[in-house]
Amino acid sequence: MKSVAFVLPIYDEEGNIPLLYERLAAVAAPLADRYAFEFVFVDDGSRDRSLALLRGLRERDERVSVYSLARNSGHQIAVTAGIDVADADAVIVMDSDLQDPPEVAAQLIAAWEGGADVAYAQRRTRDDGFFKRLTAGGFYWVLSKLARIDIPRDTGDFRLMDRKVVEELRRYPEHNRFIRGMVADVGFVQRPVLFDRDARHAGKTGYPLSKMLKLAADGILGFSSAPLRFISGAGVVLAIASALWVVYLALQRWLNPDSLVEGWTFIMAGMFLLGGIQLLMLGIIGQYIGRIYEEVQARPLYAFAVRESGPRPR
Ligand code: UDP
Ligand code: MG
Repeated sequence: MKSVAFVLPIYDEEGNIPLLYERLAAVAAPLADRYAFEFVFVDDGSRDRSLALLRGLRERDERVSVYSLARNSGHQIAVTAGIDVADADAVIVMDSDLQDPPEVAAQLIAAWEGGADVAYAQRRTRDDGFFKRLTAGGFYWVLSKLARIDIPRDTGDFRLMDRKVVEELRRYPEHNRFIRGMVADVGFVQRPVLFDRDARHAGKTGYPLSKMLKLAADGILGFSSAPLRFISGAGVVLAIASALWVVYLALQRWLNPDSLVEGWTFIMAGMFLLGGIQLLMLGIIGQYIGRIYEEVQARPLYAFAVRESGPRPR
């Protein structure tokens, strides 16, 4: 029998836990003869009755595991903790506010059985406010333009990962984590499952604007050095433009000496040229910083999808 673990980060979700559990149990029931389920709840330092509710669930149902972080460490860290402790053939990560409908998990499992190593739930529609839709849309557009790898659009962290993907993911030691990018970076067979995202069932978002911006920065800065390259690009443009301008001014001085104020040419041209050179030099330093950054991230270089060696069994 295969095992499937749900990883459920919880931050002040007392209003959602009972219904979440009920719907998860309903999804698991018809599949119970084929899969051993585990529900890994990771309480991310909730300030409400969440932890007590989770412990209550555990008393009733031994499929429930409860972990509680010593403080609020953030969604991505809570999910990481859950992935680290989950020991299953497949791990399903989902939000606990019922925005990710538990019923979709059955489709993720079906996609996994159909050969996907990662089945990511992709939003066909989303029931969020205008501001959230606009910022999320802009973010994914920029990310798709800049990122080194293809990070699927309109996905959260709602996805199923095969054990081998989870094992690779554990080799990513970076602190500023953008999990959906890291999963895309791992590779293997990744397939979308379309779904309609609901509105939050109860409570309020644990992602205020500040946390959203931090996540967006982790996504873009973690998977692109385009902002660094932009510095040297600007430097090159400015340096070339001012060099041309110097040539033009020199010609003016020679052909039409009365049109220019004495001394002005040298000061202005020097300023722009120097500015350009400085940016260019900053860009070069930026390139080194970019490399240091990549080395420090210490991501694995590759993952084997097939590993066959030694004498073949006859
Ligand atoms: N969450 C968490 N720690 C936090 C903030 C959120 O574990 O510091 C959890 C939260 O309980 C939920 C998931 O992360 O299960 C997504 O958060 P939320 O629904 O508040 O974000 P939104 O959907 O508004 O972007
Ligand atoms: Mg939510």
